Amino acid sequence: MLDHVADPVPAWRSTSLARTVGAIEAELDLAWARQLGEWDVVGGSPGETALGWLVVDSPEEHDWRTVDAALDRLTCTACGSTLTRGPATCRRCAYYHEVRFAAREVDRPDVPAGNEHALRVSFAVARARTRYGARARAGYELVLPALLAGDLPTTAQAQSARAMINKLTPEECDQVTTLAEVEEIARTR
Ligand SMILES: [Zn+2]
Repeated sequence: MLDHVADPVPAWRSTSLARTVGAIEAELDLAWARQLGEWDVVGGSPGETALGWLVVDSPEEHDWRTVDAALDRLTCTACGSTLTRGPATCRRCAYYHEVRFAAREVDRPDVPAGNEHALRVSFAVARARTRYGARARAGYELVLPALLAGDLPTTAQAQSARAMINKLTPEECDQVTTLAEVEEIARTR
């Protein structure tokens, strides 16, 4: 469980993104506390680790927040990193990063249908950013704060954002902090 605490805090591209990731991580902690309560398991006990493996090995039975929270609390038996956070070459981490997407996603009240799916995918990409290219990172991370606020870009908006991001160099993609900035740069190309 100490691994969770010892992980370095990544430098997010904007304070807005940092705040958003922090808010969702707080939701993960709440979801996990609820799961422990339901199973009558004490935090920090061997039972918590056992419950964690149970959850990540049957993701389709749990909300994605609970599954992501369990992953954060487990250590990869192959590479020793927090599960899914190991090097790209660790097949066990890659496996659990993929199966997390089988977890349940239920739209929150008063948001467009599909918001929850977009939210959880963007969050997963942001937190596993080294697994993705600079353009994918930019596309998912720049939209994450709006998704948490309950927005969902239309297909046309998403396509337009992608077209603009494609005009940026990978270095620029990692430096931009808002979609407005992307638009500004793309306009000159
Ligand atoms: Zn690993």
